[in-house]
Amino acid sequence: MSDRRWTFDSIEAACRRALIDRATLRVTRLPMTHSAECSWAEPAGRANIRVDAHEVGVRTGTIHELLHVVLSEALSGFDDYLSEEIICALEVRLNMRISLSKRRVEWWRRAINKKLPKRDARLIGKRSSGGSSTNGARGRRS
Ligand SMILES: [Zn+2]
Repeated sequence: MSDRRWTFDSIEAACRRALIDRATLRVTRLPMTHSAECSWAEPAGRANIRVDAHEVGVRTGTIHELLHVVLSEALSGFDDYLSEEIICALEVRLNMRISLSKRRVEWWRRAINKKLPKRDARLIGKRSSGGSSTNGARGRRS
């Protein structure tokens, strides 16, 4: 297990699996301190992700939170501040990687839309929002 070395391929695959298998996703208004948040149960319990789409792109916010879930064990040796720095850096790179692939963009659009209540899915389903904002999404464990 601890021999595992993360690559962008395996990180994206793990994020996809976590989204499909264990995440609930809501677009909602959040306090000003958070543009997205997530609580989850270790090791493989439900992950409840909430994204404030007024503050951050839905895909960006979702991926940020999924990274917290997927990498929590790998980041256990870092304090919260450094974990957040690492997640933010990976979020930017992972989103860039997705943006460059029509196939990946479509996968994420469909998977995220399936997770959203119909009312929310309509808001983001029609057009790409770009979602390249990188600031301030935060994970929260509980
Ligand atoms: Zn975060």
